[in-house]
Amino acid sequence: MPTSQLIYPAGGSKVTIQNGRMAVPDNPILGYVEGDGIGPDIMRASLRIWDAAVDKAYKGKRKIHWMELYLGEKAMKKYDGDIFPEETRNALKDLVISIKGPLTTPVGGGFRSLNVSLRQDLDLYACVRPVKYYPGVPSPLRHPELVDIVLFRENTEDVYAGIEYASGSPEMRKLEKFLKEEMKAKFFDDSGLGVKPISPFGTKRLVRKAIRYAIDNNRESVTFVHKGNIMKFTEGAFRNWAYEVAREEFGDYTITEEELYSKYNGKQPEGKIVVKDRIADIMFQLMLLRPDEFDVIATPNLNGDYLSDAIAAEVGGVGIAPGANISDNVAVFEATHGTAPKYANQDKVNPGSLLFSGVNMLEYMGWQEAAELINLAYCSVLKKKVVTYDFARQMEGATEVSTSGFATAIIEQMDQELDLLSKTQQRGDALKAGGRKAREARRVADPQSAMLESGRTPYTVDAIMSSSIVAVQPTMTVEQALQVMSKNNISSVLVQPDSKGKWGIVTKRDVMTKIIQANRSPAEVKVADVATSPLKTVSPETSLHQCVDMMTTQKIRRVVVEKGGVPIGIVSDTDIFRTVEKFGWTPDRR
Ligand code: NAP
Repeated sequence: MPTSQLIYPAGGSKVTIQNGRMAVPDNPILGYVEGDGIGPDIMRASLRIWDAAVDKAYKGKRKIHWMELYLGEKAMKKYDGDIFPEETRNALKDLVISIKGPLTTPVGGGFRSLNVSLRQDLDLYACVRPVKYYPGVPSPLRHPELVDIVLFRENTEDVYAGIEYASGSPEMRKLEKFLKEEMKAKFFDDSGLGVKPISPFGTKRLVRKAIRYAIDNNRESVTFVHKGNIMKFTEGAFRNWAYEVAREEFGDYTITEEELYSKYNGKQPEGKIVVKDRIADIMFQLMLLRPDEFDVIATPNLNGDYLSDAIAAEVGGVGIAPGANISDNVAVFEATHGTAPKYANQDKVNPGSLLFSGVNMLEYMGWQEAAELINLAYCSVLKKKVVTYDFARQMEGATEVSTSGFATAIIEQMDQELDLLSKTQQRGDALKAGGRKAREARRVADPQSAMLESGRTPYTVDAIMSSSIVAVQPTMTVEQALQVMSKNNISSVLVQPDSKGKWGIVTKRDVMTKIIQANRSPAEVKVADVATSPLKTVSPETSLHQCVDMMTTQKIRRVVVEKGGVPIGIVSDTDIFRTVEKFGWTPDRR
């Protein structure tokens, strides 16, 4: 058993978690893992920049005490061939916040990817990827400055759960037999088989983190990105559980997009965050065409994998995109690229990805001033076209510098940015507020076009149901019920449960068929006598497709949306026609 390789630095105090909230002292001990390949080069440069920013922003009042931890090739040397020592794992938990360079995944059997092991062993369930534009970075978009999102990708389940069986293996044969014979599933013989688990637990803890982040950082919206139109019980369930968290745990802070239009006429109430959802494939298009409509995103693992790289590419940032893997009590910030072994120890590559992961780490700690100082200095250095080789080859007239040279340029620039620090913060806030106002003005002036352009496509009943329902006593007369309908401008009333506990419904059409046609007096007949009961109900998550199926096969013109045994809305065939008229109709592609 190797002896301890770790030295807790004197003078530092640990970051702690108290009552679920993180407490960061002014002299925190933070862990860092150098990483393999180009890791040492970019870590050395970044540590210099982070330390200088903290020193300059807080004039010596705050200081990070770094503690080196070992993973990968360096760990192998120190811990008798162990690339993932238990001591490191424990220290990552103990220190709460750490940052790591890229790690080599040894090729060949017997090794789990170190990054995957780290996520699983520490249960780092949220992969957080902020993506915004830095002026000067080469980008393929005309308006990359409109991109400013923070993506929360679920990190532990979905097709990444590792439940996969090779074609022809005994395990695959067993599962194939079960699926075909017992579940009557249809698929080609000899298929490799994978399982995609998505749970309420995994979804809810991720979404909780995303909404909490949006509240704490005064963001405008949280978008749930899913493929629920095809994978109803995994991706569709993700969407439903996500809305459940918003409604049940953050009801005071959130409104749905539906409510934004129907209740608030497109004006976002102060202090409320809009929760909405988009189908994953449309989201790729929207992030190119209307990126400013999106803010915080929460999505299952595979969507998040694709989407985060695609969005990073929009701002030219795959090489500088930051990332973090976070659980409730541990956060590991990291460079998102690999070890680029061909450039190892050449002092050549761009430290941007690791550097900005550190910027996010500073923000996570609440040290915004130091983070902003790095952002400002970075933008100024980039403006002067002082860059590493990867950007130099895409820019005309660039001055190419080494990794360490780039760090020096940023640190030297910081002194000139100190005055600007608070001003740019204010300017940034003002710009954001301006963007919000412009979007709101569009929604208020022409809600129909705003909805369509923002990619909103309702496909479950809760998105189109009318929630202005009125329930009356069973003893009320039909005449009184008609008055209630006309006063509320509705064409049906719900009837409170009878002695058997069943709800009913009376529609204007019932008045024609069950009163006038039957030659009865509306002033004498009680609603309970003409109500249809039990109700034809659907759950809020029922797809429009399923709802229409039910209406046509059962020959009914409206269904009641019910949750927990209580009616919460009504969907009529008119609502369906109006939806198709407004939004068009895309058949499910199966
Ligand atoms: P990679 O290390 O990301 O390198 C691919 C290419 O990306 C490089 O050749 C270089 O492009 C560019 N690049 C990467 N980092 C750069 C930087 N800091 N500055 C400028 N350019 C940069 O991907 P890979 O070659 O596929 O993977 C190598 C190893 O890294 C593998 O063992 C892999 O498992 C591991 N990996 C680790 C992580 C992680 O620890 N998070 C992530 C991904 C991969 P040019 O050649 O065009 O200059």
